[in-house]
Amino acid sequence: MVTADGERNVDLLVRDGKVAEVRAGIAGDGDVVDATGLLVLPGVVDPHTHLLLDTGTARTADDFESGSLSAAAGGVTTFLDFAPQQPDQRFAQALQSRLDLIEGRSHIDYAIHLNIAHLPTGWERDLAGLVDAGVTSAKIYTTYRGTIFYADDWTWYRLMTQARDAGFLVQVHAENDAIVEGMSQQLVDQGKTSLKYHAVARPGVAEAEAVGRGLLFSRATGSPVYFVHLSTPLAVDLIGEARRGGVQAIAETCPHYLVLDDSRYAQPDAARYVMTPPLRDRESQAQLWDRLSRGAIQSIGSDHCGFSLSQRAGIDDFREISPGIPGVETSLLLMHSFGVVPQRITRSDLVRLPWFACSAPIPRRSSDCGRKRATCSRVPTPTSSSSTHGQNGFCLPRTCTAARGFRPTKG
Ligand SMILES: [Zn+2]
Repeated sequence: MVTADGERNVDLLVRDGKVAEVRAGIAGDGDVVDATGLLVLPGVVDPHTHLLLDTGTARTADDFESGSLSAAAGGVTTFLDFAPQQPDQRFAQALQSRLDLIEGRSHIDYAIHLNIAHLPTGWERDLAGLVDAGVTSAKIYTTYRGTIFYADDWTWYRLMTQARDAGFLVQVHAENDAIVEGMSQQLVDQGKTSLKYHAVARPGVAEAEAVGRGLLFSRATGSPVYFVHLSTPLAVDLIGEARRGGVQAIAETCPHYLVLDDSRYAQPDAARYVMTPPLRDRESQAQLWDRLSRGAIQSIGSDHCGFSLSQRAGIDDFREISPGIPGVETSLLLMHSFGVVPQRITRSDLVRLPWFACSAPIPRRSSDCGRKRATCSRVPTPTSSSSTHGQNGFCLPRTCTAARGFRPTKG
């Protein structure tokens, strides 16, 4: 058994769906699964998935049944998905719309983050209602202006003025929209619209700038902030500096930024690798591993957003493709193969990451995490499959980020 403390040869007793005992020599007349020669790990909590995402211009290839099955096959026992807020929706309506799609269909545990794009009159009260309903996090998008996902700085900042007292965590898809738009237009003007230019159109400085803005908002409001799917060491370093100064910020990266690099965009099968932010160069990849191994990245999310290749067939224009790649089934395997096997991190490091049990330093209003029983069950050992509580007693409201997988449309 692999735990945060090391690896041991032990027996594990599960009673009523929960880990009841862990020690050598457990005997009894229950069903026995012989795991001799295998590794037993806690279930993965994937804090960032987009199953069944319909962007208006494209729909992911999976749904909550098939997506949760593939998650289970990859060792994931809990996923956190996003409820997009439509232009006319209050928070509770956005949540209910998403729950209507999930309830009764998932094969594993789940919880919801909202995607907040606007703040209707009376939203402060609605925020408290969300927390009471067990939703303690929401993502805002700093880019994709002109779509339902985009939130401007005033929306983002106002949300953060209330978040701390509400016990709410704001998550951020951090990309400076003007830089992305400007760079994209410059490429278009030069006739450079093929997928080869996908990463050029969304430079790392755009991410780092938006992260800097979020850190400032966090410092000014006292609210914690969680940056999803970080692709650049510069952004991670800004967060590290802010954390050392007392800012409650969390850095998430995704396996694809750790195992793939931007040379993929020059290949004929570039369409396989289109996500935002894009893949970066090999040096950035090595630096992300370095920061992960030093604890400077606190969270791993798959940012699963599974479009099929057939949906991208014949598209060789970075403006025309709905970004997003699958990952919920492969995250743990990739982190093991590319992290543990080459000894960049240990298996216990892997288990210590909050995707096994939340452990980010987010002080809550009370000792309880605010999630309802259905989405959060406090359990006594780190081997539990659905814990969202960390060993340090704090709870991380897991919220994803990017509403990937939609094609930004203008006008
Ligand atoms: Zn996402």
